[in-house]
Amino acid sequence: MRKPLIAGNWKMNLLYSKVPEYLQTLSREINAKSHLKRDQVDVLLAVPAPFLGIAREYGEKNGILIASQTVHEKADGAFTGELSIPMLKDLGIRWTLIGHSERRQYYNETDAAVALKTKACLDHGINAIVCVGETRAEREGNQTETVLKRQLEAVLQQTGKADNFVIAYEPVWAIGTGLTASDEQAQAAHAFIRTVLRQKLGGAADGMRILYGGSVKSSNIKGLMQQPDVDGALVGGASLDPVEFARIVDCQ
Ligand code: PEP
Repeated sequence: MRKPLIAGNWKMNLLYSKVPEYLQTLSREINAKSHLKRDQVDVLLAVPAPFLGIAREYGEKNGILIASQTVHEKADGAFTGELSIPMLKDLGIRWTLIGHSERRQYYNETDAAVALKTKACLDHGINAIVCVGETRAEREGNQTETVLKRQLEAVLQQTGKADNFVIAYEPVWAIGTGLTASDEQAQAAHAFIRTVLRQKLGGAADGMRILYGGSVKSSNIKGLMQQPDVDGALVGGASLDPVEFARIVDCQ
């Protein structure tokens, strides 16, 4: 049985001074849903780097996991502006996103770079949420499976283990556009991803969580979560409002 993971990605939004209030509101809203058992779903927020410390402090008090939005594969060195795994661990952060499509698109993160970062995380016992997904042109050109396989195999060649490893399927055409993959499109992509994972990791792939991301809202989460291979969500825009994000957490 895979425990659902509902992850928010604030991207470059919100303010340090608003973090405590956000986390307290989110926790209060989740707790107000009396049918929702806190231990039945993992809730996570990927926050901007300057917020990691305070978000961890308030996240811990409120049962919410905190993640970085990216990480560098090297432990230290002359890499201005970057953030290392030992720095995250020292702050008490145990999760990070890797290879979000915005990192791939705007910062030239290649499949090889994503693979190295993932390997570094798994080697150091940090949980990696690795994002994969096709562009609109790739989907229209029937390249979805080819792209997913290429992105996944690059990572799997470096890693070879399922622990601490979550995949987020995020069709690029659905991110921040208001377009969502249909429940059937999401299930088909997730089932394909699990098949690729199984080829490399065997039965361990059945325990891995595969999240869906792309314009997830409280109005579409339930249908997505009913799909057998959808184990949670990675939520961008709708995670900026703690009341709406709590409704998404209440997704079963
Ligand atoms: C994301 O940032 O990963 C994302 C899916 O964004 P949105 O929910 O806004 O489409």
